[in-house]
Amino acid sequence: MGAKEGFIQFKRETPVTRDPQERIGDYKEIYEPFSGEKLNHQAARCMDCGVPFCHHGCPLGNVIPEFNDAVYQQEWEQAIRILKSTNNFPEFTGRICPAPCEASCVLGINKDPVAIELIEKNIAEKAYELGLIQANPPAARTSKKVAVIGSGPAGLAAADQLNQAGHEVTLFEKDAKVGGLLRYGIPDFKLEKWVIDRRIEIMEKEGVIFSTQTEIGFNVKAENILKNFDAVVLATGAAQPRGLNIQGDHLKGVHFAMEFLGKQNQVIGGEIPENPIQAKGKHVLVIGGGDTGSDCIGTSNRHGAASVTQLELLPKPPKERTQVNPWPEWPMTLKTSSSHEEGAERIFSVLTKEFIGNEKGEVTGLKVADIEWIEKGGRMTFVEIQGSERIIPCDLAFIAIGYLGPAQNGLLEAFGVEKIENQTLPKSKNFQSTNSKVFLAGDMRRGQSLVVWAISEGREAAVKVDEFLMGSSSLPRKDESYFRVDEHIAG
Ligand SMILES: Cc1cc2nc3c(=O)[nH]c(=O)nc-3n(C[C@H](O)[C@H](O)[C@H](O)COP(=O)(O)OP(=O)(O)OC[C@H]3O[C@@H](n4cnc5c(N)ncnc54)[C@H](O)[C@@H]3O)c2cc1C
Ligand code: SF4
Repeated sequence: MGAKEGFIQFKRETPVTRDPQERIGDYKEIYEPFSGEKLNHQAARCMDCGVPFCHHGCPLGNVIPEFNDAVYQQEWEQAIRILKSTNNFPEFTGRICPAPCEASCVLGINKDPVAIELIEKNIAEKAYELGLIQANPPAARTSKKVAVIGSGPAGLAAADQLNQAGHEVTLFEKDAKVGGLLRYGIPDFKLEKWVIDRRIEIMEKEGVIFSTQTEIGFNVKAENILKNFDAVVLATGAAQPRGLNIQGDHLKGVHFAMEFLGKQNQVIGGEIPENPIQAKGKHVLVIGGGDTGSDCIGTSNRHGAASVTQLELLPKPPKERTQVNPWPEWPMTLKTSSSHEEGAERIFSVLTKEFIGNEKGEVTGLKVADIEWIEKGGRMTFVEIQGSERIIPCDLAFIAIGYLGPAQNGLLEAFGVEKIENQTLPKSKNFQSTNSKVFLAGDMRRGQSLVVWAISEGREAAVKVDEFLMGSSSLPRKDESYFRVDEHIAG
């Protein structure tokens, strides 16, 4: 373990962020450097618990106490070896994971948890710096061909694992560049894209074939993929946004969040000169209090918006855990993101009723009303507070209230994959779809989720593909209890 009494000696400390007024002038990562000595103190705080709840809190099953100790001992080779054994891309999760491991860290019972995510990022970066992450192609090839469709974290993880197992992997991506929502959803101020490029270069050297601007089911038919490959992994994400479905949502200036965020990432990536949606000087409303909403706030402020207001239907969460939300559950507490720090008004318990427009068809405001949440028949429901209806003026509104599931564009049908009754999600059992040759992973299988879950799903789907092709697999796998609640039993 780290220092014997490190958790008493040292307080949790994470890197200082750049001044919000300075950082909204660019799209670079927001953190100042963190010294090696400070990182060592953070690793020293780990208690090496007999029952490390952090380990089970992590969807990847990261072996956290062991890598914390290796960092404390400055054994970087050992640290990256442990981290790599469960996580293909710690440089991604170390930057943008909401860190469920920290929420379940035992120290969190009465102190601040160990800064696990920070330690993970530093292991990855130190390993790159020391040349410990190098292309390592498989020693032998199996002559089996696998098509992975979709290059988000799920597809990338599946491709990486299957390539390491010796299969010939082609990863098809409809967009111009690889990365899925890592590339085109998550803003650069959370994840700069050179981090993805650096990893893709290694995967290419290891033998993964990347085919971009190839939309399967459209410019390449599903039947050709099924004919030319021994197995297929569909990892096409959950791109169908949830609409507000209120009057006026067709007005000019009302957009889904990804229309704005995706274009901005393309601007920064040099793919297009300018974002067709401009927030400069505008009063911006962001509807939806989650991470995507936060990303719209950060991007609007970087455009130079006149004001940004975020609306959330749910009530304002408490600052601390309540008695009904004890450790090690995910804390249902108020989250203040770096984008909130940069400036936004947040309104909770508010119902969005109707967009108001002018004669040119442009949005000019949103009619809202305050609501009160009450318990009725064992369920939470809301009632409108009489007399609270008002119009919030706006020139631009972003809808960021989640995703309904995979795009309903006929792709699943083309691959012979059945859906769960009355749902948009496909049926799967052990990551295999109703077409035995086709496996599923990531947001398209489990619905909108997190990068860490996508990587985890890609890894587990790879095990099942390997077993399907070879009869057995020596790829690492996780305890099946992690997935129990997520399985949709086919048939
Ligand atoms: C704005 C935003 C911010 C987010 N921030 C965070 C965060 O901070 N932390 C976090 O953990 N999670 C975050 N998430 C969630 C996270 O990005 C997703 O859960 C994760 O990327 C899902 O990975 P995936 O591989 O399943 O799908 P995706 O990342 O969606 O990738 C799917 C890929 O499939 C491609 N594709 C689709 N159809 C086809 C086809 N027919 N042919 C070829 N290619 C196809 C798509 O172009 C895409 O590249 C965020 C999501 C959004 C939208
Ligand atoms: S739960 Fe926290 S203190 Fe315990 S081993 Fe995991 S990181 Fe260390």
